[in-house]
Amino acid sequence: MEQLQRELEKVLKKEQILQKEPMDRHTTFRVGGPADLFLMPKTDQITETLEILLRHQIEVTIIGNGSNLLVADSGIRGAVIEMGRQSAGILVEGEYVTAQAGALLSKTAGEAYKNSLSGMEFAAGIPGSVGGAMVMNAGAYGGEMKDIVSSVTVLDKDGNVKELTCDQMEFGYRRSCVEEQGYLVLAAKFHLRKGQPEQIRLRMEELKEQRIAKQPLEYPSAGSTFRRPEGHFAGKLIMDAGLSGFSIGGAQVSEKHCGFVINKGNAAAADVLAVIHHIQKTVKEQFGVDLKTEVKMIGSF
Ligand SMILES: Cc1cc2nc3c(=O)[nH]c(=O)nc-3n(C[C@H](O)[C@H](O)[C@H](O)COP(=O)(O)OP(=O)(O)OC[C@H]3O[C@@H](n4cnc5c(N)ncnc54)[C@H](O)[C@@H]3O)c2cc1C
Repeated sequence: MEQLQRELEKVLKKEQILQKEPMDRHTTFRVGGPADLFLMPKTDQITETLEILLRHQIEVTIIGNGSNLLVADSGIRGAVIEMGRQSAGILVEGEYVTAQAGALLSKTAGEAYKNSLSGMEFAAGIPGSVGGAMVMNAGAYGGEMKDIVSSVTVLDKDGNVKELTCDQMEFGYRRSCVEEQGYLVLAAKFHLRKGQPEQIRLRMEELKEQRIAKQPLEYPSAGSTFRRPEGHFAGKLIMDAGLSGFSIGGAQVSEKHCGFVINKGNAAAADVLAVIHHIQKTVKEQFGVDLKTEVKMIGSF
């Protein structure tokens, strides 16, 4: 471990390397035990950091803004690489906006608005990073990443930087090829169109109000817990199953929006998972529908 630390310190500053870092600080659910190592490289430090970890056979987990994650109470073994504030540059050129993986969607949409570029309004309220949005094909209110991505820069498993077209990303419902190919997203380029700043602002405000009205934003969560089952809405099935407000420990089915499991305070990951399992079992029994999680589980449960 000391040798590993010494090697990492040749690439990263001491403050970019954290040991036993509690993951509840890095997830919007505010749950999760410690990561053995928590690294915050800049984009130009990633390749060397990964090389060192590979040489030491350290397992690597990539996270963005932690807004779609449930991290186990026992934490994460190996190293977590956070693509966050240190890799969050945004560049606007004509109708194109290029954002590094760690840039927040809200910031990126804000930059687009400042430059009178329309098309990204739907994403302004999604609390993820650009990297996480490429993995999930994040979407809302009729828009999704697929509609606005021009190209995505990734690092493949062999350390090569590749530029993928929107088609090559194989975007689908809350998925892309990133996960199965084991890519690390470095940046994304969006193609937007010139618009009226006032209209862009009004649309963003309108969607923000809809979110505040419908979603339990006052509690920590990871957004919609389940994927939308074909022909149904997860939230409605859960409500119709009588599970609104159902809770175990500090985790609860939101009464405001049953599609969200929320952390009412001091929830353990085990509480969240127990609520998820209970929902899945009850909905299956009552309606014969299998609910699959949209939230990604990390660590051992
Ligand atoms: C209140 C709330 C509302 C939400 N509303 C929406 C919504 O309307 N629409 C929607 O689609 N989602 C929504 N979400 C879910 C979440 O914001 C999205 O899934 C988002 O895209 C996740 O991005 P992230 O940066 O937080 O990724 P993380 O949660 O950190 O990671 C998600 C996955 O991406 C991987 N990953 C992250 N960054 C990279 C990278 N650079 N390279 C490779 N892999 C990476 C991780 O390993 C993980 O598998 C909501 C969440 C919350 C808390």
